[in-house]
Amino acid sequence: MKTFLGIDWGGTYIKAAVLDSKGKIYNKKVFASEELREKKVFIRTLKNFVASVQKFKLKGIGIGAPGIINIRRGFIYYLPNIPGWKNFPLKTILEKELKLPVFIDNDANVFALAEARLGAAKDVERAIFLTLGTGLGGAVIFNGRILEGEVSASEVGHVPLSIDGKLCGCGAKGCIETFVGNRYLLERYTHLKSNKGKASEVKEIFERAQAGEPEALIVWKEFSVALGKFLAGMINIFNPQKIVFGGGVSKAFSIFKPLVWQVIKKQAMWPQAKGVKLVRAKLKNAGVIGAALLAKENIGK
Ligand SMILES: [Zn+2]
Repeated sequence: MKTFLGIDWGGTYIKAAVLDSKGKIYNKKVFASEELREKKVFIRTLKNFVASVQKFKLKGIGIGAPGIINIRRGFIYYLPNIPGWKNFPLKTILEKELKLPVFIDNDANVFALAEARLGAAKDVERAIFLTLGTGLGGAVIFNGRILEGEVSASEVGHVPLSIDGKLCGCGAKGCIETFVGNRYLLERYTHLKSNKGKASEVKEIFERAQAGEPEALIVWKEFSVALGKFLAGMINIFNPQKIVFGGGVSKAFSIFKPLVWQVIKKQAMWPQAKGVKLVRAKLKNAGVIGAALLAKENIGK
């Protein structure tokens, strides 16, 4: 049996797990990201974990990191929500310390890889993956492979949707993320309620929409128009067979799916959109599974 270490590096938790090539988890540990913020501590913790699972004879390590990565060199350009990790050659350093091959990619690509091989899109060759949360992450699987250049992800969240628009976390204006990101939905909802009712989580806007509250329904309607327009563009380019929705906001899938679909039908070119299915992500541990698959597929090359 070949085993790999998959690391799902998130803003709140870092999950590390030993998996086989079919995604079965043998050993898993969760760390608070805050405690591993220092590079030295991060590397030492990983080294200790690898030592503790020595009996599995790991073949390699895969890491899904929350930021902009040079995937060929395993070099971190920066992690937007984790300060102190600018321009850092993580792969080179970890390989020296751990004596194992290490592969690093953006977390959205790693999630897409897991869902494409073992989850919601395992039966298709072309799919678009969205992680709806604080921001909008995403990836494209084209002809069975992650679409990528030298720099990690398809930064789908930063496709502009308006000529001007709100300032985005990336420093530009009018990105799709400013229409569908968590923060913007909450802001819009508060505005619509004229401060007479607040929601502290997107989940509440979902529940209130389900109960028929007009302001909550408007939020999802606007969200769906923006997301549908954006997806129509993606469909026109990539002719996907599936669009897979993951991330916290995808819990509202039952509300926004029909609305998004209406917009796609109007906006996309019909031969390109023909047969495309909108589905929810399937895997529970996509982060660690995808990271392990990243190592497996790179070693197998
Ligand atoms: Zn942006």
